[in-house]
This record gives sequence, C-alpha cells and structure tokens, in this order.
Amino acid sequence: VTGPAADGDGRAQAERAGIHCIPIPTPFLVGRVNCYLIDDEPLTLVDTGPNSGKALDELEQGLARLGHRIEDLELIILTHQHADHLGLFSILQRRSGAQVAGLHPLEGYLGSFSASANADDEFAEALMRRHGVPDDLVTALRAVGMAFRSFGCSGKIDRPLRDGDLLQFRDRELRVLHRPGHSPSDTLLYDERTGLMLGGDHLLGHISSNPLISRPLDGGAVGTDTPDRPRALLQYMDSMRQTREMPVALVLPGHGDPVHGHAALIDERFRMHERRARKIRKLLAGGPLTAYEVAHTMWGNVAVTQAFLTLSEVLGHMDLLVQEGCIAESAEEDAVRFSPVGP
Ligand SMILES: [Zn+2]
Repeated sequence: VTGPAADGDGRAQAERAGIHCIPIPTPFLVGRVNCYLIDDEPLTLVDTGPNSGKALDELEQGLARLGHRIEDLELIILTHQHADHLGLFSILQRRSGAQVAGLHPLEGYLGSFSASANADDEFAEALMRRHGVPDDLVTALRAVGMAFRSFGCSGKIDRPLRDGDLLQFRDRELRVLHRPGHSPSDTLLYDERTGLMLGGDHLLGHISSNPLISRPLDGGAVGTDTPDRPRALLQYMDSMRQTREMPVALVLPGHGDPVHGHAALIDERFRMHERRARKIRKLLAGGPLTAYEVAHTMWGNVAVTQAFLTLSEVLGHMDLLVQEGCIAESAEEDAVRFSPVGP
C-alpha cells in the first residue's frame, strides 16, 4: 500500500498544499508523533507532541526550518486525547496566544487532565482485574501509568469542535469528522477539494491502530462486563467503514508515512481483525478462558508488559465473536470468562 516512492510523493503532495510534517520524539513505544504545520491563515499546528523539553526543543527547530516561531501560531487543533499528541498544547497556547480547537468533550477532559487520567486509570484497573489480570501486575502497572501522566497537560479548549463542522482558512476549508475507536475523541480533518486528510491515529500505514478500551467521554454508563463495557473495536470498525466510502486521496497520519490507497489499507485491517478473531475462537475450543489467559497464550510476556493494550485487543475481538454468535461471555464471581458456542 505504501512504498518509498509513494511516501516521497505523499510528503511532496502535502507540501504543495502547504502542509508540513514535523516529527516530534515521544517516550512512548510508538516512537515519533507527526505534528503538521498548515501554512495558511490562520497559521495552524495540528497536534503538538508530548509535554517534554525535548519535544518542545524539536518543535521549535522544526518550525524555524519552516520560517516560523511558536509565537506565530494562531490556531492549534488536537486530533485526540492521547498525551503524545497534545501534551504541549497549554505551553504553546500561553506562548503564542493561539486558539486551541478540539472535539467538544475534550473541554471537560482536558480542563482537569489529572482527574481525567485518574478516572481512566481506575477504569483500566477495574477492567484488567475483572478480566483475569493478576492483582500484583495491575498494581505494578499503576506506577507506569503515573510516570507517563506528566507527558500530558491540563488546559483550555477555546474552540470546541463538533462532527461535521467546517473550519475556514484563507486557502482551504477543513471538514471536522468524529471517528472514534482508537480513542473516544478521534477527530479527522478532511479537505473535500483536494482529498487530503489529517488522520491522527485513525489510520496508520506501518502499524494497525490499537482500539483501546476507554472510558466514554460523555460520562455515560461504563462497566467492565457486558452490557456496559465500551466496544472499542466494533466502534473502530464502524468508523473505518465510514472512512472507506470517502474519496480520500492521501491520509497524513499521526505516526509514520503518508498513506495512499486508504480503502485497500482498511480492507487489509478488516482481514487482520477477522484472522485474529478466528485464532481466538480456536483457543477457546478447549474451554472457557479469561481475556487475560487468551492474551497470554497469544503474546506471552508482551501480555504482561503491555497488559492493557493486549487486553483491549483480545476484548475487542471477543466483542466481534459475540456479535457473530460464535462465543458467549459469562460474568462469574472471580472473573469474566468466554466460551465457544456451536461447532
Ligand atoms: Zn493515540
């Protein structure tokens, strides 16, 4: 789907449209995050990188290479709630006076980031315990969560966005599209005239985007068992179906190279999820298992070091299998278990 030649083309195509990629280092496994400077009026930065001195330094250098300073920024748009994408927004807002735009539920979420992160961590811990992750591992992971929290920040959203909004610039218009799944706040910016899409982590070329199970931003019912557990993978697949139908020319993603052929890539992702679901269905043939037991069988030690991520993956595919009627979920006193249905 992507190749060295196509990648060069993608960057050149974006630059002709005045959109410049500034890759910023992060402390996370995913590596660098792509921020995009839209050289237009208002001068706009899409995503900021994490809240670290190293990220700020590289962002300043990246802007300088493009002939700009942080103080020149007039608008900052956030693609979603994850710290690697937005951690610097409050510092940049203070230094530049730029307006900060983000999906409307982020107003509350980022108004008090540490309270939101606490609630997220509590939900993640309850979910892990309920699905068989050992207590000592859950406790150990809490420290990791706390350490990474400093890469985010609290701050004010000046311009709350809604699905379908149209953002006006001197040289373009960008349509705001809410496409949850990787996170509840995933927001795409789409130029209907050129087919260019700023995609955040909705669609990545080199890795599949993780449908992380997250607390709903609207504060709606949330639980760790059916029926309240958020269905991140099912929601993500719905979002991908919507994107697939659009005449997108090029996706500028939050990590990695530009993506041509979004429909082929989405088809590939659907096949991957289908294969993974079949594999999990086979593992369940031997009897009821918790999601953690399945994750451990599939990924070994990675299910320990990346317990929440792998649990989200397994539960997402469990939701798919339950929907297809191939497995059943039973909430037992000590844990939730999944068992095969039919042949
Ligand atoms: Zn993300």
